[in-house]
Amino acid sequence: MVGLWTVVFSFGLAVVGVVLALQQARSFAMRLMTEAEAQAARIASDARDRFDHQLLTAMHQVAVVAGSPNGTAKPALESLPGWIGLVHLWDGEGLIPIRAEFEITPTLRELIQRRLQARSAPPAEEDTAEKVDLLYDTLENAPLVLAVADRVASPDQRVTVVAQIVLSRLRAELLDPLIPPGSGLEVVPVSGTTGPWAQTLTGGLRFWAIKPTDRFVKEQQSAAVRQTMVYATMTLLALLTLLATMWFLARVARREMVLAELKANFVADVSHELKTPLALISMFAETLQSGRVTSEDKRQEYYGIMLRESTRLTNLINNILDFARIDAGKKEYRFEPIDVGQVVRETYHAYKAQLDAGGVEHHLSIDGTLPAVRADRDAIAQAVLNLISNAVKYSTDEKYVAIDVTKDTRRGRHGVLISIHDRGIGIRPEDRAHLTEGFFRSADNRVRSRGGTGLGLALVKHIVEDHHGSLDMESRLVKGSTFRIFLPADNREPVRAAGFGPRDVKSAQPGDRAS
Ligand code: ADP
Repeated sequence: MVGLWTVVFSFGLAVVGVVLALQQARSFAMRLMTEAEAQAARIASDARDRFDHQLLTAMHQVAVVAGSPNGTAKPALESLPGWIGLVHLWDGEGLIPIRAEFEITPTLRELIQRRLQARSAPPAEEDTAEKVDLLYDTLENAPLVLAVADRVASPDQRVTVVAQIVLSRLRAELLDPLIPPGSGLEVVPVSGTTGPWAQTLTGGLRFWAIKPTDRFVKEQQSAAVRQTMVYATMTLLALLTLLATMWFLARVARREMVLAELKANFVADVSHELKTPLALISMFAETLQSGRVTSEDKRQEYYGIMLRESTRLTNLINNILDFARIDAGKKEYRFEPIDVGQVVRETYHAYKAQLDAGGVEHHLSIDGTLPAVRADRDAIAQAVLNLISNAVKYSTDEKYVAIDVTKDTRRGRHGVLISIHDRGIGIRPEDRAHLTEGFFRSADNRVRSRGGTGLGLALVKHIVEDHHGSLDMESRLVKGSTFRIFLPADNREPVRAAGFGPRDVKSAQPGDRAS
């Protein structure tokens, strides 16, 4: 339950993280755009100031020239801004050119005169020193801008100065240089102001606007997308790491719990497994000692039971001790070239009495030509004994054990294969992957009712792997199981054991039964 809430909480955090990332990236892009907008506003106001200042100064200069005797101040006209074109004085009826080099066309003259006549002249007493009127018109689809100023030319003379503003030059000389390179801003005609926003200019500059370039906008957008991706990826990575850690911890915890349960069961199983043979041995020993058993046959039967139980006890204790040694990495082997057939035969014969006593049908077949194997005789015997005793223990009404020892050359292998086959209860598919884990006992009642420690197969697997061999198994429920130990021949490359599980079932040889 806590895990579920943690997952929900983590997802919540991740969603919040992604939303914050999006917001952050958006506000980042907005901030850049706002900065650009503020800069555009500054440029616009600067442009306006410059335009006003330059125009006033120019008109003043023209007025001074007009009032000077014989145009002595003429050179001052040369310093007029380049964007001022035709310059005239207006005498109320006609235009008197000031800059002769600019020829005015008759159409333009007529147009200008019309505009000036329509203009209401300021009252004579009005101070116009700081004032320039801008008159607009269009001529052949091009805007005509006239700057008209009524100024004092000399102490006793007031003149009306008319100047034409050349828009293309105004833009090139005054406006464009104010846009810093790399600012992401551009000057556009006011009619072409598409996009997120445009700072429209005013007064004599009203034909233009300053706006962010399309490229700048795209760059901001992709920067925002990039940032979002970075934040979102980091958030998702953090979430994945969190989930992976949780999954790992949950796995560890589950394994620990399973292990704890297995160990608890193990203690109970071992106590039971120890008590039963001990109780039988002491009971039959007491009976024999009391002298009450007079029949020799009975006595032999009791000796047999005591021997069988003590063998079982010895095997149990060997398994526990060996498993502890292997677990602690302290198990030592005495490797020597052995005849595996011989070892299996001896083990079989040592166990034969018990097989007979238990009414088990049993068969042993050993190939005549087996390659020599370097192995620890006792360890191999113990592994074989564990498999035989399992075959007997997990048998049902049809008690049957067949042991085959053959030369194994399948799949380029070279060694000896020991197969132990029974017709017992079989192994449930869900248990197969766990059989050799140690302490594992199937939850199947048919297994539980038989007693055991869950160490036998784990030990077999360890022993086989330590001999560079492999252990595999096939089983069919109710039909029986076959366990196979492969041991590589003495002079061959080692073969690693693969353990049980679906993988091993797949690795079964052609012709093998499906489990
Ligand atoms: P134990 O027999 O003491 O429980 P093992 O390690 O020998 O422990 O076996 C582990 C489990 O494998 C058993 O509990 C049983 O479920 C299963 N098993 C082993 N051998 C056989 C077999 N021949 N037939 C059916 N099940 C078997």
